[in-house]
Amino acid sequence: MNTFFIEFRDPLFSIIIFFVIIFVITFLSYWWGRYTSKEDSKHLDKFLQQFRALPSQDELKVLISGGEISKKSWLLLAGSYSKSGNYEKAIEIYHEILRVPNSSNKKETMFLLGKVYFKAGFLERSKAVFLEILKSSPRTPQALHYLLLVYEYMRDYKSALEVLEPLEQLDKDVLNDEAYLKSLALLNNATMGHEEKAEELLKIYRETHKLTYLIFEYLFRTNPKLAWENFDGSKSERVTDLLWNLNSKDLDLAIIAKNSYLRELYSARGDVDLVKSSSVFEFDVLINLKNTKVNATLNFEYVCDECKHIFPFAFNRCTGCHSIDTARVEWHLSKNYYKDFSEENNSFQ
Ligand SMILES: [Zn+2]
Repeated sequence: MNTFFIEFRDPLFSIIIFFVIIFVITFLSYWWGRYTSKEDSKHLDKFLQQFRALPSQDELKVLISGGEISKKSWLLLAGSYSKSGNYEKAIEIYHEILRVPNSSNKKETMFLLGKVYFKAGFLERSKAVFLEILKSSPRTPQALHYLLLVYEYMRDYKSALEVLEPLEQLDKDVLNDEAYLKSLALLNNATMGHEEKAEELLKIYRETHKLTYLIFEYLFRTNPKLAWENFDGSKSERVTDLLWNLNSKDLDLAIIAKNSYLRELYSARGDVDLVKSSSVFEFDVLINLKNTKVNATLNFEYVCDECKHIFPFAFNRCTGCHSIDTARVEWHLSKNYYKDFSEENNSFQ
């Protein structure tokens, strides 16, 4: 029986004890290493978390009223929140700044608050803020300009037109705004018929020679004959997309034949065969592709001449810089998916 046990003084016993001690030490140091690295990463995560989360309203209240960070820094922070689309946080910061007693630059902060409300789509609140500014400082053109925009977005064109008077008194050019607001009021008038609206819009066009796109978009859509009768060929390039998308039955071939740009445009579209080449690259390519099986067409995009923003849709007032009638249409060649689709459908019939 004793042969199965190792004697206490046996050298083999010492060797086993030695390896057991080594194993225990290795295990403990491995476990300790894992534990400490886990704790370190937990601490780091906790530290970084406070920068990821936005400060709550209560935290903002304490921080702003404490005055540890300058007001300019808070305004810069609110501005960057607004730029990145976090309007809620920007509004909270402006509110807290305005709550600080004896705060300087109150009017400027209120103006910024009104602007953020406008950008966020809170038009009623924005209106209230700008009216409040104008109550104490009626000669503030920036506030008047934004109040006009607010009324325009609310489709209260009568009030928007009333804002033009004080702006004019401050030597601001209001001709574009006046023509634009009057045109919008006409287009949104539910009691007027198409004919009456068209006549009134043409009156504005003859007086101002502005808003070509807005007015001729309406005329070509509702009364193409009247549109062609009053169309100024020199403005063709500005409304290239409207002309390109006209129905073939609405074309006035006599007018088209007299204008070189229109001849090239409709030869490129394939309605007429009046030219063999064009100085406009895209038209020239389309004229040369006419007798081939290539399905090509034009795609349009719109650039604001004032702020250079590019939009995929036509606009009359730029949403970026709020300028009127600054859209320039640009075009490029693309595959005509509509033609492909209609040909496929016809082949099944
Ligand atoms: Zn613009």
